[in-house]
Amino acid sequence: MTRAKRTVLIHHPYKPPEGFDSPVVPVAKGSTVFFDNTAALRSRRWVDKSGYTYGLHGTPTTFTLEQRLATLEGARHVLLAPSGLAAIALVNQALLQAGDELLLPDNVYGPSKALARNELARWGITHRLYDAMDAASLSAAITPKTKLVWLEAPGSVTLEFPDLRGLLAAAREANPQATLALDNTWGAGLAFDAFELGVDVTVHALTKYPSGGGDVLMGSIACNDDALRETLSMTHSRLGNNVGLNDAELLLRSLPSLAVRYAAQDAAARRVADWCAPRPEIARVLHPARSGSPGHEHWVRHCRAAAGLLTLEFDPRYTPEQVDAVIDALELFRIGWSWGGPVSLAVPYRADQLRSLPTPYRGTLVRLAIGLEDTDDLCADLARALGKLA
Ligand SMILES: *Cc1c(COP(=O)(O)O)cnc(C)c1O
Repeated sequence: MTRAKRTVLIHHPYKPPEGFDSPVVPVAKGSTVFFDNTAALRSRRWVDKSGYTYGLHGTPTTFTLEQRLATLEGARHVLLAPSGLAAIALVNQALLQAGDELLLPDNVYGPSKALARNELARWGITHRLYDAMDAASLSAAITPKTKLVWLEAPGSVTLEFPDLRGLLAAAREANPQATLALDNTWGAGLAFDAFELGVDVTVHALTKYPSGGGDVLMGSIACNDDALRETLSMTHSRLGNNVGLNDAELLLRSLPSLAVRYAAQDAAARRVADWCAPRPEIARVLHPARSGSPGHEHWVRHCRAAAGLLTLEFDPRYTPEQVDAVIDALELFRIGWSWGGPVSLAVPYRADQLRSLPTPYRGTLVRLAIGLEDTDDLCADLARALGKLA
């Protein structure tokens, strides 16, 4: 039977020879996935990655990315989410129900707090804040209703490194049933091994260092426990979480250079921090690898590297407007939030508006995310901009 061209262009008999092999992972796309017969349609499973059932449940490209991320994180299972924040939201939604409580460190990634306050609250899920630098504060906040405890290292903006081992031990002791989750974006799977510390689940904003290009939004969720993976996977699927395959391709292209970029940005941030520390305009440089920075002793005990972030605590004699003028005068540092790419970034924060619990920070804080530029050029840019305060 001869078929019309419009049909043959869809159902074409040609199959390329098998055996094409290159360093590049092919981009396998498909909303629908073909089954050879109805038996295959009925029996195939996607949760354990033993088969393909629907685009939403993964393709060879996303399965490959998930496995590579699992290796990076030292975990057995990884799921992908449309953003880092979506990964956090998924963990919350999969593990919590009305009447449950979750704990957040007061220095958690800001939108994670907003999610608990504005969305989870509407579903009858309450949250409590604890001081990440005080394990007793975590023990005091935890109750039998606590089902999920979030940790983050170091704290958002102020970069104090918590005693992760101490916090995890305190949480386990106070409520052995609670799931312990870490936002591991800063560590990127390189600075320390989260699962060896005993966390149950981690999330990453792949948007940051794993992407490295400033062009992708994606998140990941990692865990070891099979039952936890099943719970997370089912919620992931029911909520319709999906990632674009071209974005997965960009991640697969960036991952091989992750460790090299992370090390370069770590070293560059320490050089910029060394340059900033003696400046008279700056009261303190917050960077966990610097002695004198809050939590430095915990960083020493937990980490072998640091991300390319530092925060300048300006002398409180300068007004927020004066510090804004310094930032506006920067040329190489651009003003923007999402770090981990090639371009250095600066963002101002008011110390008194940053937290709910008391903190030791004063005045205006400026978070710098160091990109891949030459550090002498970056320091010259800072010197010129700080001149605005003269
Ligand atoms: C950026 C970031 C997120 C959110 O990632 P998005 O992909 O931007 O949603 C979550 N946690 C931390 C620590 C981050 O830095």
